[in-house]
Amino acid sequence: MATMATVPSKTRTKPNILVTGTPGTGKTSTASLIAELTGLNHINCSALVKSKQLSTEKNDEYDCLMLDEDALCDEIEDTMDVGGNIVDFHSIDFFPERWFDLVLVLRTDNTILYDRLQKRAYNQKKLQENVECEIMQVVLEEARNSYKEDIIHEVQSDNIDQMESNVERVQEWLKAWVPASSN
Ligand code: ADP
Ligand code: MN
Repeated sequence: MATMATVPSKTRTKPNILVTGTPGTGKTSTASLIAELTGLNHINCSALVKSKQLSTEKNDEYDCLMLDEDALCDEIEDTMDVGGNIVDFHSIDFFPERWFDLVLVLRTDNTILYDRLQKRAYNQKKLQENVECEIMQVVLEEARNSYKEDIIHEVQSDNIDQMESNVERVQEWLKAWVPASSN
């Protein structure tokens, strides 16, 4: 994927940001706040998958539906080509690499994450899977395998102060962003 010819990002006049991380690390909270403050269009992929039923058969073992990756990409492709989106999702290796100008990977201390997921009434198996996923840096590795290192920002999201500083960091980055064509 990384070496394939891609449509250059200069066709976009506004950047696209990907906010990712293990479930519970704060993607939706962080992306909502950024959208509110900057006017970027928040695409909550989990919500979209549910509302548009972009999933296939139920996976009983994990108590979840299987994502239809192609259907999700088709669903957001037009707005992604225009730019100005903040995409929020935990699974990211199937998005076209060219879509994103910044990839924010949220990290959370595993005991804090455990408490957050418990409040969501996750079953024990799903809870443990997700905490292990965070410990093993699964999403960070997926980001590193899918996007260029220099657009990936790994940030801690244990508390509100950190969330605010992460949001400020993105706002600063946005102010400095220029379309590739005007470089
Ligand atoms: P995700 O979208 O990654 O699953 P959410 O944004 O839904 O995560 O956050 C999960 C829970 O953790 C919510 O109750 C949210 O209020 C809380 N939370 C998220 N980020 C932080 C943070 N940085 N500090 C404190 N609480 C947070
Ligand atoms: Mn979410």
